[in-house]
Amino acid sequence: MIAFNKPHETGDELRYITEAIAAAHLSGDGRFTRLAQEWLERETHAARALLTHSCTAALEMAALLGEVGPGDEVIMPSYTFVSTANAFVLRGAVPVFVDIRPDTLNLDEKQVADAVTRRTRAIAAVHYAGVACEMDVLGSIARRHDLLLVEDAAQALGATYRGKPLGTIGDLGALSFHETKNVISGEGGALLVRADGPYAERAEILREKGTNRTNFLRGRVDKYRWVDVGSSFLPSEIVAAFLWGQLQHAHELLLRRLLIWEGYHERFEALERAGVVQRPTIPDHVTHNGHLYYLLVPSARERQAVLERLRALGVHALFHYVPLHSAPAGLRYGRTHRGELPVTDDLSARLIRLPMHYDLGAAELDAVAAAVGEVLGKRVAV
Ligand SMILES: *Cc1c(COP(=O)(O)O)cnc(C)c1O
Repeated sequence: MIAFNKPHETGDELRYITEAIAAAHLSGDGRFTRLAQEWLERETHAARALLTHSCTAALEMAALLGEVGPGDEVIMPSYTFVSTANAFVLRGAVPVFVDIRPDTLNLDEKQVADAVTRRTRAIAAVHYAGVACEMDVLGSIARRHDLLLVEDAAQALGATYRGKPLGTIGDLGALSFHETKNVISGEGGALLVRADGPYAERAEILREKGTNRTNFLRGRVDKYRWVDVGSSFLPSEIVAAFLWGQLQHAHELLLRRLLIWEGYHERFEALERAGVVQRPTIPDHVTHNGHLYYLLVPSARERQAVLERLRALGVHALFHYVPLHSAPAGLRYGRTHRGELPVTDDLSARLIRLPMHYDLGAAELDAVAAAVGEVLGKRVAV
């Protein structure tokens, strides 16, 4: 059996969890939270990094910080995880789904300017597979129309756009440490705040149930009080300790992913040249993080055949997002920009994600490639 995902342990997690327990600080914002946040600030150059209990929570914080409210529109792709939309729908806003680019499967920046209306409040850019959106274009649209630019960088830790770490180019960025991501803590996430200022200060308050507890812990105020709206968005020290055991190996985890990604990429070169599959496209000015490897096969029918054949051979491959715009909640809460989203509908029906985790070796990659070739190779012969 070749699993699709296998959470990788670096071996340091239990030691840090034991330390957290010994320190008798199990709630949030202890030593391990601080270490993890400092690491993130150092590595991403974000002015502020705040651990959250999920990327979903960080996106909800972004919607609150941006004061997105009822009737506001938020431009986003339909080809994304539900949390990108939910964070704004919870505030009463309307997702406006824009089509994706056929090469990176990211928001088609050329269609975004046209989707801006008087009600548009924010753009949510999702870096699919850890490959950056066209942030220069999105940034200039956001500046021109005074919009909040949020990066759903759930899959993007370690990836860059023109040398800049993803999650720190827009106003606010959200990372995920869910067990399916590159660096994990089971459930977990972080909010990245690009610049020091009102967002950074208020983010600390929202995350601590609307209190100024963070400044109280720093000794900056003498009592802590309810000063704003908020919720409990922070993880416990047990989770932060696990994460700290991972972050210190983040570079090694990244290199391993990239190696596996390259291994797949070479193995499918011939099938792409034969016109049978389309491999991922990585634009020249971005670096990715090997988060996932996908193939676009010729038709939805062939996708089904490949998935079934792979499963029969013990290879666990998956499709990915069911587009939000045609899902029940998407129809209820959102709308599309100009009718159909043909690229989204087409590509989401033809995409296969291949197994991707730390333990995959050359033999496994060969087995996956052989299984895909067995189904699709016939096509070449025809
Ligand atoms: C994983 C993921 C999320 C959700 O992350 P959680 O940490 O599970 O809340 C949101 N958006 C995208 C694009 C994701 O891949």
